[in-house]
Amino acid sequence: QTPLLEVHNLQTGFKIGKEYFNAVESVSFSINRKQIVGIVGESGCGKSVMSLSIMHLLPQGIGKIRGGEILFEGQDIVDYDEKKMNGIRGKDISMIFQEPMTSLNPVFTIGYQITEVLLNHQDITKNEARTKAVTLLKNVGIPRAEQIVDEYPHQLSGGMRQRVMIAMAIACQPKLLIADEPTTALDVTVQAQILDLLKNIQEVNDMAIMLITHDLGVVAEICDVVLVMYAGKIVERATVEELFENPKHPYTKLLMEAIPKMEEERERLATIEGLVPAIKDMPAVGCRFANRCPKAMPECMQVTPRLGESAAEHEVACLLYEESWPKEERVGAR
Ligand code: SF4
Ligand code: MG
Repeated sequence: QTPLLEVHNLQTGFKIGKEYFNAVESVSFSINRKQIVGIVGESGCGKSVMSLSIMHLLPQGIGKIRGGEILFEGQDIVDYDEKKMNGIRGKDISMIFQEPMTSLNPVFTIGYQITEVLLNHQDITKNEARTKAVTLLKNVGIPRAEQIVDEYPHQLSGGMRQRVMIAMAIACQPKLLIADEPTTALDVTVQAQILDLLKNIQEVNDMAIMLITHDLGVVAEICDVVLVMYAGKIVERATVEELFENPKHPYTKLLMEAIPKMEEERERLATIEGLVPAIKDMPAVGCRFANRCPKAMPECMQVTPRLGESAAEHEVACLLYEESWPKEERVGAR
């Protein structure tokens, strides 16, 4: 069976001055139907840029897909125009963001905004859409849905607003939901509830989720497979069990140590020393993590580690592991 989403060699550039620099560099991965795939990394590592590339929502005139393929149900959507993308966005692929207020319109009621989505993609009457909207709000655990449907976004708490966003996103039963830091702005208790809700609607609706987060703790809760991204590249891919049992990449190991252990710690954003290099300062060869890596070796500056593209359960791009370092390149480096 073909995967739901297959990304091959995606390169997304951002314009700085007159030149483009890649924020996403040769990224390949796939998401199967009903799978929950976590994309983890610090801010600035390219996770959001990658999801905006898939949705064709890159900032116009600044961000651009410069190469690669994005196959959705086997169809390459890279060259789709706005009209074709409008047929996909909100219907086959939906997206939710960290701050629901940026995607909810403050001047319209919640019911209006959900019915708009439904009327856009489905052949139903306004009344039917409204009834559906109430059902959707109930399905995402919103109490007093019959009243809330006529309220405005600012009348709700952050957690309730995120539930409304989820209701809107699943209104047309998309096959893929892209969730970009969906719980980051919420407190711990609400965060856990939203993750439960996502897991639950994934099962009920048979949809796949691409969950973008800086927090490996979030990934552990609901994901099947994890991709760790650093500086625009995938540096490790594994099933969630395998990643937690046997993390390989030094960056992944540091992310593990940064998982908040106590509830209070979650308030602080865990950090790893040093910064992700700016996209215009990426080294042309060598490992992009070398300037922060506690295990760095001289050859890490000369040889670019590769992530295997086999169907293996666990892949890593780090010269500490033989498979990332092609034999023919080993001779010259030592
Ligand atoms: Fe560290 Fe070298 Fe591995 Fe990069 S390739 S993560 S610098 S050990
Ligand atoms: Mg982001």
